[in-house]
Amino acid sequence: MKKRETNNAGKEYKVFLVEPPISVQEYEINNETKYTIWLPPLWAISIGTFFRKKTPRTHLKILDGQLLSFSNIKKQIIKGKPDFVGISPKHKTYQRALRLARISKQTGAKVILGGLYADSLAKEIIKNRGPRSSDYCVDLVVKGDGERAFLGYCEGQPLKQINNLVYQGEHEIKENPIDFPDLNNLPVLNFNLVNPNNYFQDYQKRYPSLKRRTMLRIYTQKGCAWRRANKRGCIYCSFSGGPIRLRNPRTIWREINNAIEEYSVNTISDISDMAFEDKKWFNEFYRLALKNKNP
Ligand code: SF4
Repeated sequence: MKKRETNNAGKEYKVFLVEPPISVQEYEINNETKYTIWLPPLWAISIGTFFRKKTPRTHLKILDGQLLSFSNIKKQIIKGKPDFVGISPKHKTYQRALRLARISKQTGAKVILGGLYADSLAKEIIKNRGPRSSDYCVDLVVKGDGERAFLGYCEGQPLKQINNLVYQGEHEIKENPIDFPDLNNLPVLNFNLVNPNNYFQDYQKRYPSLKRRTMLRIYTQKGCAWRRANKRGCIYCSFSGGPIRLRNPRTIWREINNAIEEYSVNTISDISDMAFEDKKWFNEFYRLALKNKNP
């Protein structure tokens, strides 16, 4: 891969974070799910919040294919000509993710894939879609947490110094070490990066007879004790492992209160896998719940 010599720190650049489109019907096929509720993509909110804090001059846009059509996203990429496009494919959206990656590449963007699904096949993606492939549409894959790696890449840091990257090196595909930073150093999630009301209205429009549901998703921790158990733990899912990392319960309650006050949220969903694993943490979370103005 050609060496990137520029250093973009402090410069203005354009970043699009794209959740590839998926339809309600497609989501519910072979699935017990009924009354699908789309929620703002946490990965994009978290990376976007981090960029807003660290590099406020960046032009940042989240294009969520849960609400936007493929052609709408395509148009916005062609018109907006972003410098960097981050895409998080899921098992049902991989082909669409690649189509959007090709469109982004044609407009001159650097394309970064990440998230649980890209993570587990990172080397294969670079082999088949990276700079040495006949279908070059992906520049690199981020494994694990994306905030620092994505920002480091956009700012032009040398690739070998950026943890969590998988990319085409001169002779082989390189996998940099993965780090698991303290989640408490990340800023409180900024849901203003999308408009949560669009998600609430979409649900109401599809299910007008159901009770109004205003729901947002957060995470209280990352990691899974079952994966780690004596190194012989569960290997069923594709998450990249690492220690259990807990967020400060006070920060979480601040996030929940913001969501209630700003968007009249009536349901909060926690995507974490191990909410009851750490008793001390849970007791503190519960103690604060009893004192909280929105228990
Ligand atoms: S999150 Fe679930 S599937 Fe994944 S390692 Fe843990 S127990 Fe297994």
